Amino acid sequence: MAKQPAEYIWFNGEIKPWKDATVHVMTHAIHYGSSVFEGIRAYKTPDKGTCVFRLQEHNRRLFDSAKVYRMTIPFTLDQVNEATLEIIRKNDLQSAYIRPIAFYGDIGMGLQVPFGQETELTIAAFEWGAYLGDEAIKNGVDAGISSWNRLAANTMPTGAKAGGNYLSSQLISMEARRHGYGEGIALDRNGYISEGAGENIFVIRDGVVTTTPKTAAILPGITRDTVMTLLRDMGYEVREENIPREAMYLADEILMCGTAAEVTPVRSVDGIAVGNGGRGPITEAVQEKFFGLFNGTTEDKWNWLTPVYE
Ligand code: PMP
Repeated sequence: MAKQPAEYIWFNGEIKPWKDATVHVMTHAIHYGSSVFEGIRAYKTPDKGTCVFRLQEHNRRLFDSAKVYRMTIPFTLDQVNEATLEIIRKNDLQSAYIRPIAFYGDIGMGLQVPFGQETELTIAAFEWGAYLGDEAIKNGVDAGISSWNRLAANTMPTGAKAGGNYLSSQLISMEARRHGYGEGIALDRNGYISEGAGENIFVIRDGVVTTTPKTAAILPGITRDTVMTLLRDMGYEVREENIPREAMYLADEILMCGTAAEVTPVRSVDGIAVGNGGRGPITEAVQEKFFGLFNGTTEDKWNWLTPVYE
């Protein structure tokens, strides 16, 4: 079993010791991928103490993902927000990665069984460092285009953050690792850039920033929205357009972003250096704004931070 990263887990409204937060082997979600989840981070800030970043947007997306699959989460959005804060406090964490997950439990076998049933809901919170590594945040990650495409439109909705979608992400990520890359980037079924295994992609050339559109089989990330907002606030033009593969090879800068990966430069794609093969100036500037939200150098004009201990 993996090392226990925190003391407690919020489980259907109760606080349980980490080791007791278990499910039955006949849990529907294990068999059929019938879960929806979130990844959220909390940071220690100098002025407001520990704050959850974009709590409302993440948990709203949890409910949106559930709605797509006609799942009923037996708690309100406000209750889930409060429970998210509660489990950070209970574990006495200063910074945290938070994982709410709604899933069908031991409701019986079969694909029609879930209709009209309520989900279970658990929320874990624990400390978790930079997903692609601290070195990558500074110097960039080497990425490779995957031989696996992301899901085609009208197969499974990539806009819903469902457990089953992460089989696609695992194929992309494991292939990348096998080829010696730090992360994999997938194309959509039309051959355009989609996203990384767990990150959205921004490509920069001649000062113009482009990210892949919602129609390119992406999960429209909350960090993606954050990066777009910060860049526009800094005066950059940000476009949402299809990105052909060769634009990756010809970019001045590329960055990947997600809650786990935060904002990470890409220094090569398929072994071709991006720009001069390091972190570019616009990436560095937007990283400074992004991490500035948590170290107090960027004003939180958008009310993205929710204090945990007040
Ligand atoms: N795409 C995928 C497939 C992801 O798993 C994630 C991480 N949740 C993202 C993009 C980035 O989303 P966010 O910024 O909301 O974490």
